[in-house]
Amino acid sequence: MTPKVAQFLAESRPATPCLVLDIDRVEDNFRAIHQALPLARIYYAVKANPAAPILERLVSLGSSFDAASFEEVRMCLDAGAAPLEISFGNTIKKISAIQGAYAAGVTMFAFDSQEELEKLAKHAPGSRVYCRLLVENKGADWPLSRKFGTTVQSARDLMIRAAELGLDPYGLSFHVGSQQMDTAAYEVAIGQVGMLFTDLRDAGVNIRMVNLGGGFPVRYREEVPTVDKFANAIMHAMTEHFGNDLPEILIEPGRSMVGNAGVVHAEVVLVSRRIPGDPTRWVYLDIGRFGGLAETEGESIKYRIETQHDGDATGPVCIAGPTCDGADIMYERSNYQLPLSLEMGETVNLMSTGAYVTTYASQRFNGFAPLAEHYI
Ligand SMILES: *Cc1c(COP(=O)(O)O)cnc(C)c1O
Repeated sequence: MTPKVAQFLAESRPATPCLVLDIDRVEDNFRAIHQALPLARIYYAVKANPAAPILERLVSLGSSFDAASFEEVRMCLDAGAAPLEISFGNTIKKISAIQGAYAAGVTMFAFDSQEELEKLAKHAPGSRVYCRLLVENKGADWPLSRKFGTTVQSARDLMIRAAELGLDPYGLSFHVGSQQMDTAAYEVAIGQVGMLFTDLRDAGVNIRMVNLGGGFPVRYREEVPTVDKFANAIMHAMTEHFGNDLPEILIEPGRSMVGNAGVVHAEVVLVSRRIPGDPTRWVYLDIGRFGGLAETEGESIKYRIETQHDGDATGPVCIAGPTCDGADIMYERSNYQLPLSLEMGETVNLMSTGAYVTTYASQRFNGFAPLAEHYI
């Protein structure tokens, strides 16, 4: 955790559960990504954490934004983003959302089907559109693949059709899956995009942009490759497939922009040994699957947990949330160990929880308030 977060926790002793997020760390992340990929324009994936202080800081740094809904478009505009710096990147958009964004001056939209393309032609005429390709999500701890994207062949047809419908056939996109650990995922996807790009150019389509999506990982329990490592692999693949004639490059980091800037501060509600003879203790926190830790589903994202007793002898634990729902278990099979000296009433910190937590918190399920947030 950053010194600022540590100091805030020590001095303010905020009520739990809460997220404490250091905005300066977001700025550091933005600068690091920009430095690693200077040729890429950064579109922050707002859904990772849409808090106004984050958006405002990113606006001041010259970031662009990837919005998933009209509400997110609104949040970006309210934070001071120019409409031309906002991409409506969800391939599934309500007509009213397309109309609202277009009326607000947004002119860049994603699609992955003929049906959505026709909606865009009708309700956002003349806009820059880009087609999302279905790519392999192997290597990602939080894959997205099955729900989005189309085949290379269909993308080709749709991009030609886009021009016929009076839209601007701007580019192609993909997403290699979130918390992607393997740089090869980008290399393979860039290869696919490169071939289609050339093919479309030859067919007379004025295509000029490649959107590499998000996916860069955050360090949770395990080490992850650095941003530089991904950047090197990406630029190597871009040069290999595009030569000196590089297209405009976009990236949409979400998790890697805000994840390591935040800490969830939580209370241990109970440490119990319900099953006599079982060495595994059950540790119940005042935050769980419904309080914002939705990415623990399938134990996909494994947050690192710090206690006041780190360094003491540990024993196996199952870790669960406070609600009366049987699904409200975070970790049962991932070999979590916590200090034997950990007691109820103490606080713990879930590290690198700045992304995909606050907005996943339910509205008063079991009466619990949504997660409190402190941006410092
Ligand atoms: C969620 C999402 C992102 C952000 O992905 P991360 O893995 O958090 O970096 C980027 N682009 C699109 C289209 C998304 O849906």
